[in-house]
Amino acid sequence: MELTRVAISALFLLLAFGSSSAKVEEENPEFWRSQAKQTLQSVLDRELNTNVAKNILFFLGDGMGITTYTAARILKGQLQNQTGEETVMTMDTFPSVGLAKTYSVDFQIADSAATATAYLCGVKTNLNTIGVSAATRNGVCKSQKGNEVTSILKWAKDAGKSVGIVTTTRVQHATPAATYAHTASRKWYSDADMPAGAKKDGCTDISSQLLSNTDIDVIIGGGRKYMTPRGTKDPEYPRDYSSWGKRKDGRDLIKEWQSMKFGKVAHYVWNKTDFDAVDPETTDYLMALFEPGDLRFEADRDPNMDPSIVETTEKAIRILQKNPKGFFLLVEGGRIDQAHHAGRAYMALHEAVALDYAIAKGLELTKENETLTIVMADHSHPMTFNGYPFRGQSILGKSPLWAMDVLPYTTLMYGNGPGHKVANGTRPDIRNVNTKTKDYVQLAAVPTESATHSGEDVAVLARGPMAHLFQGVQEQNYIAHAMAYAACVGADQRQRGQRCS
Ligand SMILES: [Zn+2]
Repeated sequence: MELTRVAISALFLLLAFGSSSAKVEEENPEFWRSQAKQTLQSVLDRELNTNVAKNILFFLGDGMGITTYTAARILKGQLQNQTGEETVMTMDTFPSVGLAKTYSVDFQIADSAATATAYLCGVKTNLNTIGVSAATRNGVCKSQKGNEVTSILKWAKDAGKSVGIVTTTRVQHATPAATYAHTASRKWYSDADMPAGAKKDGCTDISSQLLSNTDIDVIIGGGRKYMTPRGTKDPEYPRDYSSWGKRKDGRDLIKEWQSMKFGKVAHYVWNKTDFDAVDPETTDYLMALFEPGDLRFEADRDPNMDPSIVETTEKAIRILQKNPKGFFLLVEGGRIDQAHHAGRAYMALHEAVALDYAIAKGLELTKENETLTIVMADHSHPMTFNGYPFRGQSILGKSPLWAMDVLPYTTLMYGNGPGHKVANGTRPDIRNVNTKTKDYVQLAAVPTESATHSGEDVAVLARGPMAHLFQGVQEQNYIAHAMAYAACVGADQRQRGQRCS
């Protein structure tokens, strides 16, 4: 009974505050009717864009499930002192929306390697494998031979377009690696990460494939420690042993890359000053590696040392768009996923908001009639958005209703993850805890060292030529084929006759 009384009084409190925080204009039915009429008219005015896509701008939010998407929208508005729920993100303006089924050939819930192989190479595969079909066994080099599958980035390059990858993780990480590498293990970042048997059987590490496979015009992210010989001091952290070069084969892939580009204007940079000095108008090739491993979270980034994802996206587009045949660019917000693994919703949402700003920059620099822009996630995470928070309440705050254990809980929490805590038989008492800080770890129902992924469908948003292909509930590997069709690239274009000639 006591619990019920607490709940009822909390509900009264909720109603009292709820009405005062609502916006006056929203009490008028005309507000909603005219808003809906405007939306209806803009949908009716839409014309099918059946152009051939000259450019493909592909934004991937790693781990940006629909819960993350909604919560990031609210955060974006709240960071601008709005209530947040009504905010229109840039990605919300895309006219076509579909869902993609993310399971891999071997697992109900997939990882970034298998999913990237699906949406970039057009073929579903096994967990932990990149750029290879499901005939390849995870970690077994021998099984990878002859089972390689190529990506939309390669198809675009083969069609004469310029191509690039921009990420906030190391450039050898699963998502960007699927544009250029073929590997039975996503963990083979450098040769030092490979078992002797795999090397003996002729497999090569992901970093070396960054140079030996498709000729990529723009490469931006982190991961320089996998490129240099063991013991090479890092230019930014010379005293930090863990950031030193890893390679056992003695190769310096950064130097090799520079000499491979002899005769072209090719820049390698590792800090913001040098990055800012790169003139896109005169640059043919850019390799920018801002950290030994992954980049810092946006909330921790030193703006004097590292550019934001908005700045890297802009530089990449300006370099690539000089090609009259167009470009393919993958931009990955790669650390939404890593923040979720750590149970840190603050970080995950801020990463997703940063990605939305990069999308806005992408739209600003390109034309809708010739650029197919896609936004999607690879897989989701077990973050839930629950309770009955008031309108406009901080998305990182607590539900106004307490639970049956007479303790408050946060609006965002996890099904599993490092935030699970039980002391003396109860959950932690967060009444006096500020849950809105960047280091706060949300409660998880089940203790795991790292939150897992989750298996529900992810959103696919599209804008520009053939955007209407990205509708309905589809298998995730369909995305690569639909992009190839839109841009007239890839092996199937000969069958497309008139449209592509
Ligand atoms: Zn992950």
